[in-house]
Amino acid sequence: MDLRYQDCTVLHVDADGFFAAVEQALNPALRGRPVVTGAERGIIAAASYEAKARGITRGIQLHEARRLCPNLVVLPSDYEAYSLYSQRVFGILRRFTPLVEEYSIDEAFASLDGCSGVLGAPLESVAEQLRRAVSAELGLTVSVGISLTKTLAKLCSKFRKPDGQTILRREHVPILLARTPVGKVWGIGPASAAKLQALGIATAADFVRMDETAVLRLLHKPGHETWRELRGRRVFPIDTEAKRRYASMMKGHTFSPPSDDPRLVFAEAVRNLTAALAKLRRHGHLAREAGLCLRLKDYAAQAASAPLPCPTSHDCEVAPILRTLFDGLFTPGQTYRSTGVWLGGLEDGRNRQPDLFEETPARHACGRLDAAVDRLNRRYGQNAVAPAALLHGKLKPWHPRDAAPARYDARMEGESQRHLAIPRMTLENPV
Ligand SMILES: [Mg+2]
Repeated sequence: MDLRYQDCTVLHVDADGFFAAVEQALNPALRGRPVVTGAERGIIAAASYEAKARGITRGIQLHEARRLCPNLVVLPSDYEAYSLYSQRVFGILRRFTPLVEEYSIDEAFASLDGCSGVLGAPLESVAEQLRRAVSAELGLTVSVGISLTKTLAKLCSKFRKPDGQTILRREHVPILLARTPVGKVWGIGPASAAKLQALGIATAADFVRMDETAVLRLLHKPGHETWRELRGRRVFPIDTEAKRRYASMMKGHTFSPPSDDPRLVFAEAVRNLTAALAKLRRHGHLAREAGLCLRLKDYAAQAASAPLPCPTSHDCEVAPILRTLFDGLFTPGQTYRSTGVWLGGLEDGRNRQPDLFEETPARHACGRLDAAVDRLNRRYGQNAVAPAALLHGKLKPWHPRDAAPARYDARMEGESQRHLAIPRMTLENPV
């Protein structure tokens, strides 16, 4: 146990209105204005606090949001920028402790166990330094909670939001629990909350007073773990392993109207394949297996998969396998409504020792071709360069999501696409 911090060493940091906040940080003209992202889907993906104040929440329809707030700024999602900012936030957190768990794009847990000697400051000041650094360097605000367990720290970061901090030591835990409706506890879903409420358990304090065997009987192991965490017992460890590995990758698409044209259905499958392979390469992975699923008009699905000759992420090596799978599945005269392609048996390609006989000149050329196509598509939008088979597919109407983000044209000195200087002051107001 840390002598100075004692057992109050689990930190949770949660960025406030993250996607919208990143857009405001990238373009200061948007600060103080109601901003939402998700233009490409017609559904709000994230709302700035100014938009939230007008009653706009995640998941509502765009036209509904515009009705609530006529001067709403609606932007397409730019996940690449969000993930860059996310890494920056986590990077700042790592200045305080190396024990960081990247829980989601805008949330992290960290352990301050044994850090008091190095940090040399009380917890209140550590939380404040963290918030100040993020806000000064990135132009975002975060909320910070520090307590005995992950579940309690998560309650704390929510307690004062946005731009707030709550440090909850053991002696004050009952006060926060008494103020917390049981359904607001991390890990207590709507079904569990309903069961508890039926027994008259309204707050987290009521919940922790429940008898242990009753908790186990009612909510089983997951609910029992949460119960123990709320009582200040650490059940969930800080998982510092980066979740960069994917087990499989899947791309699927429904087309309308359904079609019995083999060329069109194949083109749709190829579109999914190229998207899945581009993502695979972006993450530096290789696949050992490819699969195809064709869905008929009546929703019945047929699927098949095949191993790849060697672990690969090259279009020209996987496409013939897809052709074989397609020819085996497609039935003339049937009408299809969607295709899905998945890549399995993934491994990290960056640390892999290639087989001497795998690295042929032809393979090397495939790799260079893919790299060139990826670069062009990043620059000019998805499928700017694509396999000829796509000519038989449906021409998709142009969509804001297909465009390269505006910041590609507004790079500053020393910047690359994957590294932006933050905050950027050079963007024109896109509104
Ligand atoms: Mg958040």
